Amino acid sequence: MTLQRARDLDETDPLYPFRDRFLPADEKLVAYLDGNSLGRPPRAALDRLEALVREDWGGRLIRGWSDGWTELPTRLGDRLGEVVLGAAPGQVVLGESTSVWLYKLLRAALALRPGRREIVTDRHNFPTDRYLVEGIAEELGCRIRWVETELDAGPSVAQVAEVVGPDTAVVTLSQVDYWSAQIADLPAITRLAHEAGALVVWDLCHSAGSIPLSLDADEVDFAVGCTYKFLCGGPGSPAFAYVRRELADEVRQPIWGWFGRKDLFEMGPGYEPADGVRRLLSGTPPVVGLAGVEAGVELIAEAGMPRIREKAVALTEFAVELFDEWLAPLGFALGSPRDPAVRGGHVTIRRADARELSAVLIEAGVLIDFRAPDGIRLGLSPLTTGFEELYRAMEVIRDRAR
Ligand SMILES: *Cc1c(COP(=O)(O)O)cnc(C)c1O
Repeated sequence: MTLQRARDLDETDPLYPFRDRFLPADEKLVAYLDGNSLGRPPRAALDRLEALVREDWGGRLIRGWSDGWTELPTRLGDRLGEVVLGAAPGQVVLGESTSVWLYKLLRAALALRPGRREIVTDRHNFPTDRYLVEGIAEELGCRIRWVETELDAGPSVAQVAEVVGPDTAVVTLSQVDYWSAQIADLPAITRLAHEAGALVVWDLCHSAGSIPLSLDADEVDFAVGCTYKFLCGGPGSPAFAYVRRELADEVRQPIWGWFGRKDLFEMGPGYEPADGVRRLLSGTPPVVGLAGVEAGVELIAEAGMPRIREKAVALTEFAVELFDEWLAPLGFALGSPRDPAVRGGHVTIRRADARELSAVLIEAGVLIDFRAPDGIRLGLSPLTTGFEELYRAMEVIRDRAR
């Protein structure tokens, strides 16, 4: 494998010019392979945030709320739905963190299935998802049915089928596994849940901005996801929630705040949920954080999800090729699927000394993350990761791992 080949891949990559749309990293950085955990800052985010502070906040002050801030969570939600989620308007809203959305939507889903007592999730789901399910089960006296997955493979349709039954109220899973990057069969699992009379809550944190989604066509009930990973919204930027249109006027979520009430500024007695997806809101929207999300979503819109997915496949294929040539002989195992059709935007490599090696790599300017017990996650972000950058990173891994 030659460096020239990596350079050729960069040259013919239609998304390569997007690298200049982001702020440069410091000189000493060899490779940023963590865009799946925190996307790099778009230059537009800096401009947008400065304009927000100077003009909107500074210039308009409290009038900003009537100039558009109040509608921002749903207006930007519609745009995210169109560009990233495959969702028609009126079903997506932004605010909160993914964890808080998960709480609200799991409770909302359970309330729509009174009499059913079981929540299905998988043993290796992202930690916050598991903890939330455990907390809600304790709070409401529900039972958890665990899908017994392996660390390096997400839930299969057959595994989910084993635990879904007549008492299942909700099935909640991550579409792209945060550890292995395996893509779960969202349409099939959603159908399976529906056939059992249950609802689904999909966690799309590692999907949004990485793989094309069609939530409407796949008849997903609820979904959540963060915006600071592939969507480049900035550290802690607000997460999104999706609720299928037919449920939007029916759901009840447990945190009854004024921003989710009908006639917000009437300040009347008693809580009555707003019409549609706004009822998922609770308190004042995080306007500053949403400015970053807007910049990220517009970049994704320009690049287009099909081209993004195509490059994600090319990058992960290249990583696996280099893995086979350089790292497998050094005792590494692949912790991600070999089939690109079921592999998301990162590649995990495994070796017993992964924890120590990760610290060495970070010190050497290759930013990756360690995932216990033995995984090193190489996050490949189509808008910002280059093939030469990836090649250089794999060289460092090979040389340091010898
Ligand atoms: C990153 C991630 C989260 C993060 O949730 P926060 O509330 O933003 O901390 C949740 N679920 C998955 C699958 C993730 O990858």
